[in-house]
Amino acid sequence: TATLGTEWALDWVARAATAVSEHRIDLIELDRAIGDGDHGENMDRGFTAVTAKLAATRPESAGEVLKTVATTLMSTVGGAAGPLYGTAFLRGAKAADGELDAAGVAAVLEAALEGIRARGKAETGEKTMVDAWTPAAEAARAAADAGRSPVEALRAAADAAAAGADATVPMVATKGRASYLGERSAGHRDPGAESSSLLLAAAAEAAEA
Ligand code: ADP
Ligand code: MG
Ligand code: MG
Repeated sequence: TATLGTEWALDWVARAATAVSEHRIDLIELDRAIGDGDHGENMDRGFTAVTAKLAATRPESAGEVLKTVATTLMSTVGGAAGPLYGTAFLRGAKAADGELDAAGVAAVLEAALEGIRARGKAETGEKTMVDAWTPAAEAARAAADAGRSPVEALRAAADAAAAGADATVPMVATKGRASYLGERSAGHRDPGAESSSLLLAAAAEAAEA
């Protein structure tokens, strides 16, 4: 496909909902180690609600799909992740201008990252989802600048997010609930970085399908 549109966005959300459900226990265990153990439940509740909401609407663009994801996650996920992902998808929705080429994919991921940063005030290296989204947005932009397809841009972003989530393991958390543990947060993967990696993997798989 030359560009990504409504069908891709709907398939992304469907795959994201499946991934979050399949990894619910993993995310709970990651959050139990350095947080309060609810991240898997929060995300699964949110994406179950998103699936129901999208089944009852007829979105006409990728941006409309992402906007529905945003508003539904904001009202159902709670905790730190609800407003962060809600803002990410809302900014992404605003940046999604019709069908997405590779530069459009990069613009959506950059806008999502900016939303997370504006909301959470975290920089890279603080052991949060910012450590997954930052390399993801950078990889998508680099792919677009190199003339790659939107599918390749999303694959590069997903792989960079996975590496970014891996890189949170040795970090000491300085934002969010995990920061209460101080040095004891080191040696554990950040749950929000992991769920971000799952979401971006779902986006790439939907593009490749
Ligand atoms: P809570 O900590 O309120 O229980 P969740 O468990 O759903 O919320 O989400 C925790 C995740 O949120 C963390 O793993 C981290 O990735 C992310 N997070 C927390 N605070 C921030 C922040 N200030 N900026 C970016 N991400 C954050
Ligand atoms: Mg939690
Ligand atoms: Mg909580």
